[in-house]
Amino acid sequence: AQNAGGAATRTTIRVGGVPIGPDTFTLIAGPCAVETPEQTLGAALMARRAGATLLRGGAYKPRTSPYAFQGLGEAGLRILAEIRDEVQLPIVTEVVDAADVDVVAEYADMLQIGTRNMQNFGLLQAVGRSGKPVMLKRGLTATYEEWLMAAEYIAQRGNLDIVLCERGVRSFEPAIRNMLDVSAVPMVQRLSHLPVIVDPSHAAGRRDLVVPLARAGIAAGADGVMVDVHPNPETALCDGAQALVGDVLDELAEAVATLPPLL
Ligand code: PEP
Repeated sequence: AQNAGGAATRTTIRVGGVPIGPDTFTLIAGPCAVETPEQTLGAALMARRAGATLLRGGAYKPRTSPYAFQGLGEAGLRILAEIRDEVQLPIVTEVVDAADVDVVAEYADMLQIGTRNMQNFGLLQAVGRSGKPVMLKRGLTATYEEWLMAAEYIAQRGNLDIVLCERGVRSFEPAIRNMLDVSAVPMVQRLSHLPVIVDPSHAAGRRDLVVPLARAGIAAGADGVMVDVHPNPETALCDGAQALVGDVLDELAEAVATLPPLL
């Protein structure tokens, strides 16, 4: 994953035919968690209307509280796969345990490693063997070097299809959940050949900051943005406060359409 020669030779990764890399800009959107077929379809249609070319959605959720909704598991994967066929968007979904990699890889077009698992080395090696592209989110307190070394665990098992996702780091400010590290975009693009995207939804934890942060990521040269959307955020079982809907989603679509990245 290290880019010895600088930023000149950056890589494009394909997910079910959809490119993520320096010559394009990729919007990934979908529900934080898969809840029902209707909710997932609603979110997928919103994502597609906003210009997303990949659908996200968690079936295995890494929740801070063990009492919070943990996801539908394989039933959620089946819903995602049905909706993929209906809306024709490849799917990105998280795997939280090495024991689940085979089942998640059976359904998913891209496997997501969440922030809490960035240094779960057994899991990284397992997704490295899966044959599926991997989105590796930055750990909450990980340095760029630690993040890239985590990517090496995946690459070392023969899987070079890795996209890095900056999703905010732990800061001293309680008003926001995490602080999107915009510097990570150009810095990590210099240190590595891999695409770098940003997730302003999980960084902010609140809807009103998602579009400004997405704009910041785009302006910094991110290769894509991933956001949460939900047809009815008040009833969401996971992270409803950050899900885009209505006018705010329109604003995001406009930001993506009118603020092209530095191609
Ligand atoms: C997610 O994308 O669903 C998620 C839980 O993100 P993170 O690992 O960045 O918190």
